Amino acid sequence: MRLATYHAHTTRCDGGDSPSRLAEAALASGMTDLGYSAHAAWPFATEWHLRPGDYEAYVAEIRELERRFAGKLTIRCGFEADYLPGVSAPDRGLYARFKIDYLIGSIHYVGAAYPGEIAEPWSVDGPTETVAATLDAAFGGDGKRAVRAYWNLMRDMVSHCRFDIVGHADLIRKRNGALGFFDESAPWYRKELERTAKAIARAGKIVEINTGAISRGAMDDLYPSAEFLSILYKQGARLTVNSDAHAAKDLTSAYDRAYRAAREAGFTELWFLDSGGWVPEAL
Ligand SMILES: [Zn+2]
Ligand SMILES: [Zn+2]
Repeated sequence: MRLATYHAHTTRCDGGDSPSRLAEAALASGMTDLGYSAHAAWPFATEWHLRPGDYEAYVAEIRELERRFAGKLTIRCGFEADYLPGVSAPDRGLYARFKIDYLIGSIHYVGAAYPGEIAEPWSVDGPTETVAATLDAAFGGDGKRAVRAYWNLMRDMVSHCRFDIVGHADLIRKRNGALGFFDESAPWYRKELERTAKAIARAGKIVEINTGAISRGAMDDLYPSAEFLSILYKQGARLTVNSDAHAAKDLTSAYDRAYRAAREAGFTELWFLDSGGWVPEAL
């Protein structure tokens, strides 16, 4: 089976290594496919997104690497695009001008649930203190309401945006171990997972197992949880394994755990990007 990641960050956004350093490391470690996915919120940016003036140079740099490594390592060019309604969407139409190969759709921020209310959005992916402070600001500290808003936003994104991979589907778990703002075993939470898995399967999106929380020390577990993964399998979702590497040393971190989790959930194949589209290979 191929050894791939389609979720990798470089010094072009918030990663620690250059695109060429990543390609060299991928080749040296026996990887077959490397997809670059710079953080994107076109035409906006925070300090960890690709700057709007750098998009063309980023794509040109990846295409140059694609030529340099041809025949040795398959290189793909994509973005991890934020979903923040009214600001940013992971939609092929919006990114068409950059002629990329694929898009990851991710939610890092959840706005307040009350329409018309202006508040700092809940930062799902931030440091523990930021997650706690913005949960207070946006949702009055009501974890259940915030988590339901996250899953509503996720279903909205997968149903309405044209992209390929759902990024770290249950990212809200990242700081829940430290903060305990919701109960992952509650029946209402399982219902949210079931509704979301249905929406993902219906939209034909590929879900990633994302090992980034393990390699970066945020949480000793994969996204999605074992429970969510098994619900996704039952709903017929397609699966890929990604590292969300922010450094060359993490390109295939914890892949043994990811493959084991995929098999335990029932999956028998993973999806890879060929020039003609996504294709399955036996796991
Ligand atoms: Zn992300
Ligand atoms: Zn990422």
